[in-house]
Amino acid sequence: MPMLSAYGTIRHRIVRRKGLSVIMDTIIATVAARVKTATSMVALTGAGVSAESGIPTFRGPEGLWQQYRPEDLATPQAFARDPRLVWEWYDWRRQKIAPASPNPAHEVLAHFEKIVPDFLLITQNIDGLHRLAGSRSLIEMHGSIWHVRCLAEGSVRENRAVPLGALPPRCPCGSLLRPDVVWFGESLSPDDQRRAFAAAESADVFLTIGTSALVQPAASLPIVAKDRGAFVVEINPVPTPISALVDAHLQGAAGVILPQILAAVAQH
Ligand code: NAD
Repeated sequence: MPMLSAYGTIRHRIVRRKGLSVIMDTIIATVAARVKTATSMVALTGAGVSAESGIPTFRGPEGLWQQYRPEDLATPQAFARDPRLVWEWYDWRRQKIAPASPNPAHEVLAHFEKIVPDFLLITQNIDGLHRLAGSRSLIEMHGSIWHVRCLAEGSVRENRAVPLGALPPRCPCGSLLRPDVVWFGESLSPDDQRRAFAAAESADVFLTIGTSALVQPAASLPIVAKDRGAFVVEINPVPTPISALVDAHLQGAAGVILPQILAAVAQH
């Protein structure tokens, strides 16, 4: 299958501005045709899908990891060492996320659930914006920043207090609460993993959107989908390690490109 790409190295080494927009339109039309005829589709999202809602990504120029080292904050060891410091960081992130609203990318993905017979959205994000946009066929692979888990009981409950108050927060049983998110070095829920890989293996179309494709096992999903014959589309303003493998790379912001795909689906 030919590779479609809107940037240099792959097919179109030199494109003038007008040519680039024609190429983008062609790729969008091709992707829309695939979406329209898909019976099963998977979308994998990362922090980039929420960037246009004002939530910083981890690894971009404005990324959170430019200021903090993940190993200081997002590991079980860090929490055991200094639960207050870890909670201060999560409390700060909750304050940044709380006023954010879903953007057009979240909204289009929620709409795909209505038009593709078998659609699954897999997100690495913990901000809850896909749910807020209406997505229900959804796996939040890395948990939710709005859920807390009791270290003693293992019970999980919603907590939307912003700010949290006394840190670190405690369960009514007296034990420490932790964010119900998957930290570096921790395993994903086996059930979520099984569902995500099964969906990737049977997808006709796989979209990978706003993820640097570096964090495993999510980064393997588009590769598995491609190996099983899916048409794989990447939407990202910059190339990633999987850009050379995908069928179509759409270079740009998810909140701009996804509505263009949906409009082309409607026209098709
Ligand atoms: P990442 O920060 O590593 O990569 C973000 C990617 O999004 C980059 O490749 C960047 O080029 C791209 N991007 C930036 N703006 C975009 C836009 N407008 N449209 C499309 N793409 C855009 O994020 P990741 O790959 O999701 O890394 C995984 C980890 O980041 C996960 O563990 C996740 O839990 C965590 N994270 C989540 C949030 C959130 O919940 N919103 C925020 C920061 C980090």
